[in-house]
Amino acid sequence: MSSTAALVEALIARPSVTPDDGGCQELIAARLTAAGFECERMDSGPADFRVSNLWAIRRGSASDGPVLVLAGHTDVVPPGRLADWQSPPFVPSYRDGRLYGRGAADMKTSVASMVVAAEQFAAAHPKHRGSIALLLTSDEEGPARDGTVVCCAKLRERGQRLDFCVVGEPTSVKQLGDVAKNGRRGTLSGKLRVIGIQGHVAYPQLARNPIHQAAPALAELVGTEWDAGNAYFPATSFQISNIASGTGAGNVIPGDCVLDFNFRFSTESTPESLKQRVHALLDRHGLDYRLEWTLGGEPFLTPVGSLSEALAAAIEAETGRKPELSTTGGTSDGRFIAKICPQVIEFGPINASIHKIDEFVPVADIEPLTAIYRRTLENLLL
Ligand SMILES: [Zn+2]
Repeated sequence: MSSTAALVEALIARPSVTPDDGGCQELIAARLTAAGFECERMDSGPADFRVSNLWAIRRGSASDGPVLVLAGHTDVVPPGRLADWQSPPFVPSYRDGRLYGRGAADMKTSVASMVVAAEQFAAAHPKHRGSIALLLTSDEEGPARDGTVVCCAKLRERGQRLDFCVVGEPTSVKQLGDVAKNGRRGTLSGKLRVIGIQGHVAYPQLARNPIHQAAPALAELVGTEWDAGNAYFPATSFQISNIASGTGAGNVIPGDCVLDFNFRFSTESTPESLKQRVHALLDRHGLDYRLEWTLGGEPFLTPVGSLSEALAAAIEAETGRKPELSTTGGTSDGRFIAKICPQVIEFGPINASIHKIDEFVPVADIEPLTAIYRRTLENLLL
């Protein structure tokens, strides 16, 4: 068995549903310390939601050399109903050339591959010029309030420079290496309450129907082209996810209408520009309304450059594939790191089974993934 697979097994066997780390980072810190890394816990959060964070760095021989950070999370989403799993989610199990277990794809295989790649790199090139760091959290799948965002604030405070970051999110789609992500869309949510006047349906002149008032405004919101996207991003999308109004009675005009909507936005729009346009539209329709906004994450984008080229070369050397750069999918911790690091790219194993019952990683992908991370380090830090 390869050393990476053994570490993946050890990590899967440590149940770590957010924010629990299950001892994963302790195990990793011990390995990295032995490989010459300075390890530092950056735990954060209240006692009832304590988040484990680990920052580890092996400094390069050149004080002005580049700094590359491998970033990831040790937490996993809950397994769901245990009876639905073919083998227990926290017992690593091999079947049909796959390694099964919660976190196998998202993202304990990436984390293990990063650790082993870092160890191999340090052993083969003890005098490496640039610095190599790992940043791990146990709060990526949860609220992400006490995880990577807190570590990035700390690193910024102490003036730690970062030049490159590879986030180990599972980005491959059909085959290892077919897709890497060089950005993510932003997410902005709104809770809109359109205020009417409740009354009897037979006396509409004494009431004001918020559904009737909202409908044309919603039609216009749904029909608006917010932007056309750009070379890296699809067009910004607007979706209504919930709508609620009415008392349940057939003879009452409701007093209000409440709905939730969400933007997934490209770098062609900003949270401010989207908010301003929504307010202008609602005002134009003469609505009496309240609107609360939640910015879930800002978009980030890493244009083609030294990091994407180093990673693509590593992927091609190992798999023969040229990765497509994509910005699709949900948000990730890349959005926090991008604030203190000019080049951030996500790359990891096949994501077909993430967050599902019987999550797995193909066994044949584990060693190539480790080699891809190691080659990326060699391409940038020697
Ligand atoms: Zn993940």
